[in-house]
Amino acid sequence: MKNVGWLVAASLALASCGEMGSGIGSDDLLNAGDDTSNWITHGRTYSEQRYSPLDLINEDNVSELGLAWYADMDTARGQEATPLVIDGKLYLTTAWSKVKAFDAATGAPLWEFDPEVPGETAVKACCDVVNRGLAAWGDKLYFGTLDGRLIALDRETGKVAWEKVTVDQSQSYTITGAPRIIDGKVLIGNGGAEFGVRGYIAAYDAKNGEELWRFYTVPDEPSEDDPEYLKAAAETWSGEWWEMGGGGTVWDSMAYDPDLNLLYIGVGNGSPWNRAYRSPGEDGTGDGDNLYLSSIVAIRPDTGEYVWHYQTTPGETWDYTATQHIMLADMEIDGAERQVLMQAPKNGFFYVLDRATGEFISAEPYIPQSWALGIDENGRPIENPEARTEKTGQPAMVMPGPLGGHNWHPMAYNPDENLVYIPAFEAAAIYAPEEGWKPDPNRGFNVGYNLGAGDLPPDLEIRKQVYGTVRGKLLAWDPVAQEARWEIEHPGPWNGGLLATGGGLVFQGNSSSEFNAYNASSGEKLWSFPAQTGVVAPPVTYSINGEQYVAVLAGWGGAYAITADGGLVKDAKPVQNISRLLVFKLGADGELPPIPELAALPLDPPPSRASADTIALGAQKYARYCAVCHAPAAVGSTVLPDLRRSGTLQNRDSWQAVVHDGILSANGMVSFEGSLSREEIDAIREYVIKRANEDRDAGIS
Ligand code: CA
Repeated sequence: MKNVGWLVAASLALASCGEMGSGIGSDDLLNAGDDTSNWITHGRTYSEQRYSPLDLINEDNVSELGLAWYADMDTARGQEATPLVIDGKLYLTTAWSKVKAFDAATGAPLWEFDPEVPGETAVKACCDVVNRGLAAWGDKLYFGTLDGRLIALDRETGKVAWEKVTVDQSQSYTITGAPRIIDGKVLIGNGGAEFGVRGYIAAYDAKNGEELWRFYTVPDEPSEDDPEYLKAAAETWSGEWWEMGGGGTVWDSMAYDPDLNLLYIGVGNGSPWNRAYRSPGEDGTGDGDNLYLSSIVAIRPDTGEYVWHYQTTPGETWDYTATQHIMLADMEIDGAERQVLMQAPKNGFFYVLDRATGEFISAEPYIPQSWALGIDENGRPIENPEARTEKTGQPAMVMPGPLGGHNWHPMAYNPDENLVYIPAFEAAAIYAPEEGWKPDPNRGFNVGYNLGAGDLPPDLEIRKQVYGTVRGKLLAWDPVAQEARWEIEHPGPWNGGLLATGGGLVFQGNSSSEFNAYNASSGEKLWSFPAQTGVVAPPVTYSINGEQYVAVLAGWGGAYAITADGGLVKDAKPVQNISRLLVFKLGADGELPPIPELAALPLDPPPSRASADTIALGAQKYARYCAVCHAPAAVGSTVLPDLRRSGTLQNRDSWQAVVHDGILSANGMVSFEGSLSREEIDAIREYVIKRANEDRDAGIS
């Protein structure tokens, strides 16, 4: 640590009563905001502001920023991690939950660790095999793996100290989020709400992985022994929701206020999405708020005791998670100094709450949205009845769609400007209730909607027009006025997380393969670096020997990238995945190697000869079981195999060997034998053959 003189070291040893030995302790985490050399916790501080006071790189000299070093990753999947920097060393997680350590000044590799997540785990992940980062405590690093383990590594050597399975691995739980650590308790949740799990967060002893408490976000089948907060929640559900898990996973955001002794967690969507199937009510069309879905919940970090909650989307039915970044700050509102909590959840509204009590202060839409007419003075949405597709039974185009107005990509805060920077996203979706839907506990995206309903026709002009309406934005949001002070429109959606600095800068990578710096007060673009690949992860900054560094993990992937990227529009340049850590400092002039050619297989399908009925069956099964990884309407992506170009299209037996027999399960393509008959698997092949012919005929090569 920068400020560890003998005095501080001595007081740390006293404060910790010898429990943790040397290294990161509570005082370091509580004072992380002042420690500009390091970046020791996910959001830089417990308040998760992602603001560094460092100003050595600033508006006047940022044009001299250059590449100091880079490191290639060994995974070509989505890279979403926030690196940690401790005492001149940089640690990060990559896709497939691998961990790497570098000298933060030179880039010299120090060690790496591969938890050997089984390839078949990939089918449990809704949104790519990503990992968002580590936590540090004592002389150890902690992270979750895609298959649900929590692992403690020796920070010096990368050797395993302990590991603990935190989920029922027979269910579709995954971990992609970064742990946080409060007073020696490692906090981690999990994902899987598209696959029928019941969400929770738990605390584990940093010393040995012992589970200390577990906080479920949704009720199980009611019982006398339930805690009061779950008894209250059960009143807001109907039917036998526990049979389908309920959802409410805590897959990303947390924040902590040490003075109030409150841990804040963001809770995800319902399982299934369609409320009529999850909590049918008396008439079967859906009823109830379904607590604590889509809520921000405050709990005691020492015991897991419930304190308060605020539900952003009561009775959610659109995949509107409240797992998005939770940020704490103090500011004057209506003449009073308020301790606030802020969030821009998927539902498109920016919320300001009193973080001591959960009292609603204000909410305004940060993107155009169509599900609500506004939020009333009690903080309850005034719904647009047409968007309640599970009630009407009719398909509805709703803005935003399941990717939200803002997804997991971290925001950042500038206290001088009192601005919250939001990586926002505008994309509507068609929600079409699937009649007679039944959950499949084995495989597939279990949401209760027909996921093929929004598929675009083969006509490239129409596709181009629709995709022209999808955009990404960097918003500089004034949380008091509840409006954007400035905004940047990006050419594409799914842009990077954010960093704000005392140098008056905001850093962001984007889907146009750039890494940029903007003026914090005006939004003027001051510097840009060609990153060669889409950047979705958030940058960090640190200093060593009087020099400031900015680091960002580049590498295209994640939910949007795997489902909506490839070959949608003729002549559109697909975004490549080149997974690589990029590190910058003033005056550096490093260069990246030349961009490799994107090796696309030719689009050369066999002729389409199947009957219309077979193709329709294949389309239906494709939408439910294949589209979430291989893209709607089989348009493919650059991250996962583009099935239109698959060699197995030429040969029925090899297609069956993959989909039915699971010969590629080590790569993540597991057998679908338990969910799909051989006939259905053939029908999916015929559907993909038809789609490939359509796209070749439309001029895609
Ligand atoms: Ca979800």
